[in-house]
Amino acid sequence: MRTDVLLSLSSLKLDGISDTPLLDCQIMLGHVLGKPREWLYGHSDATLTDTETTCFQQMLTRRQNGEPIAYITGTRSFWKREFMVTPAVLIPRPETELIIDTVLERLDDASINVLDLGTGSGAIAISLAAERTTWQVTGIDNSGEALSIARLNGEGLLNLDWLEGSWCNGIKAASVDLIVSNPPYVEEGDSHLDQLTFEPVSALTSGPDGLDAIRDIVPAGYHCLKTGGLLIVEHGYRQQPTVMSLFDAAGFKDVEGLVDLQGNPRLVLGKKP
Ligand code: GLN
Repeated sequence: MRTDVLLSLSSLKLDGISDTPLLDCQIMLGHVLGKPREWLYGHSDATLTDTETTCFQQMLTRRQNGEPIAYITGTRSFWKREFMVTPAVLIPRPETELIIDTVLERLDDASINVLDLGTGSGAIAISLAAERTTWQVTGIDNSGEALSIARLNGEGLLNLDWLEGSWCNGIKAASVDLIVSNPPYVEEGDSHLDQLTFEPVSALTSGPDGLDAIRDIVPAGYHCLKTGGLLIVEHGYRQQPTVMSLFDAAGFKDVEGLVDLQGNPRLVLGKKP
């Protein structure tokens, strides 16, 4: 079957399942053929071998069952790189790039040390380490399985290391210049979780109000930061006032709330005085 026919027939099968049926099919087909998605536009009359067809059909079935495209292809792009993802790690979200933007805008390339708490696939730690080779970045996660993915994603970067542990447990007081985190923050009963059943629940939810992790991270981060050090935390769209008050209560100064490209409150940052 020609690829253009295959794409239009297959995308019909994703109607009501995916918001982007054709795009999903193009990504999966590109993956099967080992070509970028754009290649398909110039090769609509190309035909598939039997093996390629079977492989594509298997991916399509997984997508029909609601599995995220990133787990099916095993990759997701974030900032300037492709990251390997498995069900052991949260799929990096575009809104999390606001952490990278904010950090790069505010901090130059003076040599500093940085922690990424709950690093998962390593997307934040690796993007920062690649942008600022003078920084020493440590990605921390309590999942050894997640860290093995992060390690593979970060191969080749020399200013990067990984630590298995809970938030900043074991990190010396007043020893860090910058702490970033995209912790779990979804409320335990949130209906939105129905669409996220393939992702690790420990990376998504955190107590009834979603704030358990942030309540631990804010004072622990304060303890580990040097004077003048910065903490930046991602949070849910309704949590900003509470997160800002947690920063105030821990002793942070210059506490700011930032809004993402969709206009949702998304980050809080503060400085240790
Ligand atoms: N932003 C993600 C979502 O709601 C959640 C990520 C997280 O909990 N850190 O889909």
